[in-house]
Amino acid sequence: MIEYEPVIGMEVHSELLTESKMFCGCKVAFGGEPNTRCCPVCLGLPGSLPVVNKRAVEFVVRTALALNCEISHHSIFHRKNYFYPDLPKGYQISQYGETPIGVRGYVEITVNGTTKRIGIRRVHLEEDTGKLLHVEGDRSLVDYNRSGVPLMEIVTEHDPAAGFDQINSADEAREYLVRLRSILLYLGVSDGKMEEGSLRCEPNISIRPKGSGEFGVRTEIKNLNSFRAVYNGVKYEIERQERVLREGGTVIHETRRWDEPRSVTASMRSKELEQEYRYFPEPDLVPMVFEPEWIEAQRHLLPELPQEKKARFMAEFGLTAYDAGVLTDSKALAEFFEKAVEGYHDPKIVANWTMGEFLRLVNAAGIEVDQVKITPGHLVDMLKLMDNGTISGKIAKTVFTEMFETGKRPEDIVKEKGLVQITDESAIESAIDQVLAENPNEVERYKAGKQELLGFFVGQVMRATKGKANPGVVNKLLREKLS
Ligand code: ADP
Ligand code: ZN
Ligand code: MG
Repeated sequence: MIEYEPVIGMEVHSELLTESKMFCGCKVAFGGEPNTRCCPVCLGLPGSLPVVNKRAVEFVVRTALALNCEISHHSIFHRKNYFYPDLPKGYQISQYGETPIGVRGYVEITVNGTTKRIGIRRVHLEEDTGKLLHVEGDRSLVDYNRSGVPLMEIVTEHDPAAGFDQINSADEAREYLVRLRSILLYLGVSDGKMEEGSLRCEPNISIRPKGSGEFGVRTEIKNLNSFRAVYNGVKYEIERQERVLREGGTVIHETRRWDEPRSVTASMRSKELEQEYRYFPEPDLVPMVFEPEWIEAQRHLLPELPQEKKARFMAEFGLTAYDAGVLTDSKALAEFFEKAVEGYHDPKIVANWTMGEFLRLVNAAGIEVDQVKITPGHLVDMLKLMDNGTISGKIAKTVFTEMFETGKRPEDIVKEKGLVQITDESAIESAIDQVLAENPNEVERYKAGKQELLGFFVGQVMRATKGKANPGVVNKLLREKLS
């Protein structure tokens, strides 16, 4: 039986976090009253002229540099012509052909222990369209608030002739997107919100007999708005194409839509029917010329990127690759960890709390790290309360949860809730006496040699003291009493 190999190319669009739109001064924001952030330029009114948003260009150049691209020294805009109501000018200002801002870069991904350098074909700048809202009947409403928002497109290279690795599985496609999103967030150029559509991904998928030198016919999937959807959509499409070929059919070059409720892809339109865009250079904008010194200045402005931070965390704090990877996945998490480490002597303990309780609570609450009420200082204070014996490790978890929910200082929580650890031997002794009196059978069996019962007694005493007894003291006293 023929074995097939999937080949995947990813087109990712990201709205840029600029204050204003790409070619006019209108404000960029999500949502809001429809058609309130528009002007003659982004409405495409006759006689209006575009002016390039310099900040958007810088963002794309920095992204391209972070993705190891070469920067074109000369880059121009094109008009992509098509007619649709979300595009008031009748064309989108975009970049085409040999003139994108960045070319020939790569993103490193690691899946199942194998590291690949996924080739980046191009990084370019364009503008977003308006938004159509289909209401009941055959009516549609259009909102131009999004029209002209700076949009960056990042396209991977599927051809190994370019000198880089390709994406060959749904796992790798998702991991590529995870890595790319993390880099964009570190750079501060995107908010990365797939659910709001500010980060959008369209995978192109084909399969070919393993070892074949030619590529199969590809399909493109639209409407994927989560990592999970990207993974499921790509996986589904690989399996569907394989089924088609095994049954003797042919894959059609088409655009398919991910149908989330049914978990299938469905045909949207055939590529053969797609219109000709009649690209031509935008006559209202001058070419962009990037001097080498200016490019180097932009390179200097790059922040420490996820991989560099990971390597530094391993070297500086002695963390494992796994721990350093988790902690640097998100910039906000890495910053939380690093601030806490400044105030505490043992990075490993800070890492455990950050990756453990902290992330667990963040995920359970379904929020982002930067929305959390706990400060790094609070974590440090809590660790110190553990070190000086004020609270036990068990109580610390209760305190941590309370800090997470209320943002209060650990000292205050301990005081308010009376969580101070009991180290006073006489108080613990009376709890022990009570437990032993209530469990005469267990005491007898223990004395007859069943040593494992010590754990049972410790548990009972901890329960009687609501977890506040110092476990070390409990153990010591129990052994004495039972000997
Ligand atoms: P278009 O803009 O028409 O969708 P592009 O040439 O820009 O086409 O390619 C889009 C993406 O599809 C790129 O990532 C490219 O590497 C990828 N791609 C092109 N051909 C194939 C193929 N046969 N199999 C898989 N991916 C492909
Ligand atoms: Zn405008
Ligand atoms: Mg495409």
